Amino acid sequence: MRKTIKFISIALILLLLVAGCSGNTSKTKADNDSMSDNQAQQNNEGKVDNNENEQEKDEEENSYVDPKEKIDLSLKPNEAGQIMVLMYHNIGKEEAEWVRTPENFKKDLKTLYEKGYRPISLEDFVNNNINVEAGLTPVVLTFDDGNQNNFNIIEKDGEKIVDPDCVVGILEEFSREHPDFPLKATFFVFGSNPFRQPELVEYKLNYLVEKGFDIGNHTLEHNDMSKINDANKIQKVIGEQAAFLESYVSGYKVNTYALSYGARPKDKSLYSYLQKGEYEGKSYENIAVLNVGWDPSVSPIDKAFDPYSIHRVRASETKVDGVGMYDWLAVMDKNPDRRYISDGNPDIVTVPKKLEEKVDKDKLGDKELYIYEE
Ligand SMILES: [Zn+2]
Repeated sequence: MRKTIKFISIALILLLLVAGCSGNTSKTKADNDSMSDNQAQQNNEGKVDNNENEQEKDEEENSYVDPKEKIDLSLKPNEAGQIMVLMYHNIGKEEAEWVRTPENFKKDLKTLYEKGYRPISLEDFVNNNINVEAGLTPVVLTFDDGNQNNFNIIEKDGEKIVDPDCVVGILEEFSREHPDFPLKATFFVFGSNPFRQPELVEYKLNYLVEKGFDIGNHTLEHNDMSKINDANKIQKVIGEQAAFLESYVSGYKVNTYALSYGARPKDKSLYSYLQKGEYEGKSYENIAVLNVGWDPSVSPIDKAFDPYSIHRVRASETKVDGVGMYDWLAVMDKNPDRRYISDGNPDIVTVPKKLEEKVDKDKLGDKELYIYEE
């Protein structure tokens, strides 16, 4: 019996050594602690002699490394940098103000990927729950209006398949070829016929959520809020739409809202209804309200970050209202200091000293702030 336990203890030490050498950056202090507890328990049961105990104590102390020390500062992590929330509308045969061709959309994804951008969900962005590989930059993909070219089901050889030239089809193919480019995007839809194949509404909404995409609110009738001056009407067009979408997807909460035309009510006292309200006994609450255009968003831990007024970048090459995605990519290339660069550890917010002033410490939650000198 004693021999077996001794053997287990030795096996555990070996395991610890291997774990310590693997340099696995995802190991947190908590993981190490629980491992030590486990080991201590084994030791007590086995009544291992003092010498071995001492030795194991040393191993324990050596195995704990401050996770901050594992952050690679040569990658110049900057989690106070800017993040692009890209705004798309249609995919179609001819490039136009609100249309990207399938080829150009694929080119956008390839460009983003090669320049080190990786999609995260809008909710993770707003909650500063950003888990992107060290040295890379998060990006948020959004698609407005829920046209059929966003998510189209076609028949091929008697089978229903996702149109490879619609947004969902293109994203799925790209993610299959680039597994580190996850299926994260939000589709802002309005009305009772999202994606315009009425018999498939339930199927499509569930499909999106199962794949990891999100469904956002774009009001009941693509309403222009600057023309509504009534609290009840505002709550109806947001609340009824949220309830409609949620009725199809069990357990899913629609909690993000993209303003149609980027318009807000003229009366500022009505703004609160964009965030939350109630319609016919059903409440809604949006954690994010998105504008139309015009530049990259500040980091969610920036003092200037307002989740109820998130800026978006038009994903287009046509310069209809100033600058689009490619202009901003060029700006970020020229000014790498502006860009959010992940430290690879979602529990730590790493910021260069010169940007310390930007950080709103109240927004850090349970995350640790790590300021470093460049
Ligand atoms: Zn719209």
